[in-house]
This record gives sequence, structure tokens and C-alpha cells, in this order.
Amino acid sequence: MTDQPFPVSSFQFPVSRFPFPTWSLMLTLHREPLVTLIGRPQFVEPAHLGVQWHEAGTDGERLAEFAGRLCYMSQRNPAGRSTAEYLGNILRQGHGSVFEHAVYVLLIEGVSRSLTHELVRHRAGFGYSQLSQRYVDESEAAFVVPPAIQGDAELEAAWQAQVTSAQAAYVSAVERLMERYAWVEDRVHRRKLAREAARSLLPNATETKIVVSGNVRAWRTMLELRLGEGAEREIRRLAVRVLEALRGEAPRFFADFELYEAADGERSGRVVYHKV
Ligand SMILES: Cc1cc2nc3c(=O)[nH]c(=O)nc-3n(C[C@H](O)[C@H](O)[C@H](O)COP(=O)(O)OP(=O)(O)OC[C@H]3O[C@@H](n4cnc5c(N)ncnc54)[C@H](O)[C@@H]3O)c2cc1C
Repeated sequence: MTDQPFPVSSFQFPVSRFPFPTWSLMLTLHREPLVTLIGRPQFVEPAHLGVQWHEAGTDGERLAEFAGRLCYMSQRNPAGRSTAEYLGNILRQGHGSVFEHAVYVLLIEGVSRSLTHELVRHRAGFGYSQLSQRYVDESEAAFVVPPAIQGDAELEAAWQAQVTSAQAAYVSAVERLMERYAWVEDRVHRRKLAREAARSLLPNATETKIVVSGNVRAWRTMLELRLGEGAEREIRRLAVRVLEALRGEAPRFFADFELYEAADGERSGRVVYHKV
């Protein structure tokens, strides 16, 4: 079992350990990513440059608006724009750099290592901290069922058999490597030696957790690419969840995104303002 199995997106079932019968395993599977907002901007408005606000806004949105208004010293808001109108105009003008001041941090769980391999390709404006397979024991790691396999009982059974076998091989390798390096006195170092080699046996489907910080300009670019129908289905699902989380938090930054159901049954998204 993982520390905190997800209530909706995962389930567990007993698995025979043959040909490794010395211990038994409860395999945990994930079918949907879990996205949790864990960090948001705090705007501290300077008293000497206060803005004439025409609408309530979140700190991140106001921070971006303040930065945009500073460029033209338009704090008195002569056009009488609401924050939604002001940020909409920033999108139209392509003045996206003001979005870089608003950083949101997401905890992402229930995703595969193959997904995060794609995710971390997004460089500009992002920071990452990911679960280490060198330090963390993966003997009871969970796995992510690829969307394309979900719903086909025969395919799923074959896939689960392979995953189970790979995990058993990992456990066996860790045990043997711990014996091989028994001469290493530092137990933490010995475990790391064993796990960093044994992890090579784990599949891409192994579940991982990652904290991602990104500014709004970076999130928008990532979402535009990963909501597209050409994106791999698991990361597309993640992108939908990320958009929902960020739009729920700061809707005015993402008002031009539209979700729809694609021909493959997966949700996709399109955006009005390309790569602002
Ligand atoms: C459908 C799809 C299929 C893909 N297939 C593959 C594949 O087969 N193989 C593969 O390797 N990758 C693949 N990728 C990943 C892709 O090549 C990019 O690495 C990934 O989408 C991140 O995009 P990015 O570089 O624009 O993002 P970021 O790194 O976040 O950069 C954002 C933007 O900042 C600018 N920027 C960032 N860094 C630089 C720089 N060093 N110099 C100049 N400008 C910069 C660019 O304008 C860039 O678009 C795929 C992506 C998608 C969406």
C-alpha cells in the first residue's frame, strides 16, 4: 500500500508473488492524476502606488495587473477596467511577461514516471521536486494504468501481470544488492546503492509524485501544448486537472481556455491566445 491511497482514482487487489513467494503484495493502481494546489502568490500592495480596482481579484491576478499598470503608471485606472478586462487586454496585446510574477505551486500525484519525463521538458518558468527512487523504497510502489489500456479487461490483466513481475524483480534485486554491499557500513548509503541499481527494473508506469512551481505564463504555454489532441493521453488528463485547479484559483488568467471532448473520448483543450 502507498501511504495515502487515493479514495477515488485507485484500488488495490492481492497479487500472487510467484515466483517470489516470501512476501505478499497489495498492488495499488491509479487511473487518474491527483492535482492539489499548495502555493499561491501574496500581493502586498504598496500604499504609495495603490490601484483604483474595479473588481475583486485574487492576489495573483492583482499582482499581474499591478505590474502591467506600473509600466504605464496607470494606477488611477482611467479606462475604468475590471481586473478581468485588464488581464484580457494583456492577453490580446501579448504582454505576457506580467504573468510571470504570479507563481502557483501544485502537488501532482498518481502519475507515471513516463508522464513526468515529459512534464519536466517544460523548462522556462518552472521548478520541480520529484520523489527520488534512489532514496525511497519502491517495493510497494503504486502503478498508473495507461488510459489506452483502461477498460479492456484482457489488456489490463496482461499489463498487471507484467507490472507485478517487474516489481517482484525489483524487490529481489534490492535484497541481493543489499547482501552484495553488506560491507558498506552506512546503511543509508547501502540502501541507496541497492535502490539506484534496482530501480532500472521498474516500469515507466511506476507512480511518482512531484511538486511543480510555475508562473502563469509558463503554465499557459504548458497547458496549450499538453491539452492538444496530439499530446499523450495521460499528460492530457493531467493538463485538464491542472487547468481546473488553476482556473478555480485564478480564473481571469485562463478565461480563454476551452475544454471539449476529443474523438478519442479524452478531454482536450484549445486556447484563443497562443503562447502569450
Ligand atoms: C505532442 C508533443 C509531442 C512531443 N514529442 C516529443 C518527442 O518525440 N521527442 C522529444 O524529445 N520531445 C517531444 N516533445 C517535447 C517538446 O519537444 C518540448 O520539449 C516540450 O513540449 C516543452 O516545450 P517548450 O520547449 O516549448 O517548453 P519550455 O521549455 O517551457 O519553453 C517555453 C518556451 O520558452 C522558449 N524557450 C525555452 N527554452 C529556450 C531556449 N533554450 N532557447 C530559446 N527559447 C527557449 C521557447 O519559446 C519555448 O517554446 C513533445 C511535445 C508535445 C506537446
